[in-house]
Amino acid sequence: MSDREYNVVLLGAPGAGKGTQAKMLSDQLAVPHISTGDILRGAVAEGTELGAKAKGYMDRGELVPDDLVIAIAGERLAQDDCARGFVLDGFPRTVPQAEALGRAMDELGREPLLVVNLAVEEDEIVRRLSGRRLCRDCDGIFHIDDEGVTDGGPCPDPDCEGELYQRSDDRPEAIRERLAVYREQTEPLIDYYSKRGVLVDVPGEGSPDEIAERLLPAVRDRS
Ligand code: AMP
Repeated sequence: MSDREYNVVLLGAPGAGKGTQAKMLSDQLAVPHISTGDILRGAVAEGTELGAKAKGYMDRGELVPDDLVIAIAGERLAQDDCARGFVLDGFPRTVPQAEALGRAMDELGREPLLVVNLAVEEDEIVRRLSGRRLCRDCDGIFHIDDEGVTDGGPCPDPDCEGELYQRSDDRPEAIRERLAVYREQTEPLIDYYSKRGVLVDVPGEGSPDEIAERLLPAVRDRS
């Protein structure tokens, strides 16, 4: 195994495929997948103090305040399993978060980030989010149009058959709010990282496997 660092950030609108791609990429690169959304949802499910603070923002499709999210991400990135890199999914989402991440990387003496922008048209994003279903047992991400996926039915993975559910923020009102928040607060990061010469664009249209086939070489060539 090489000792290269893969410090990857996946940028993209909600529904661009960050979660699915981050999982696949982290397996391929053998580095952890870090999703601030998953960490926050875990905190809400466990009923922790962090979860109580975050829940209202998440249900409305708004961003959780920077100081909370920056603290979570900083703590996670300092853990030993991130020494060879990570795939960050859903962080940073604002310019102050990007600045904090840059400072944390400097303090930890890390190599530069590689930021991938997964670009997807808005109609396709709404289609993906409104049909998205997740499995409580295997954490699989599916779509209601996928073979074997039905509302109220089990996980289509025959080895799992866990309970499928829809995220509370994948309902129409929250989707609209999340897209507006993305445009206003997160999209400026494309410019922020582009100016720093660390951004690579990967088209996010197509099947998960097709996107992964574009993403892996883009990361390997640039890291
Ligand atoms: P995600 O799973 O990445 O779509 O995140 C779900 C929700 O968690 C978001 O809509 C926000 O409410 C919250 N969240 C996750 N990551 C962040 C972040 N970096 N900054 C602020 N809020 C976040």
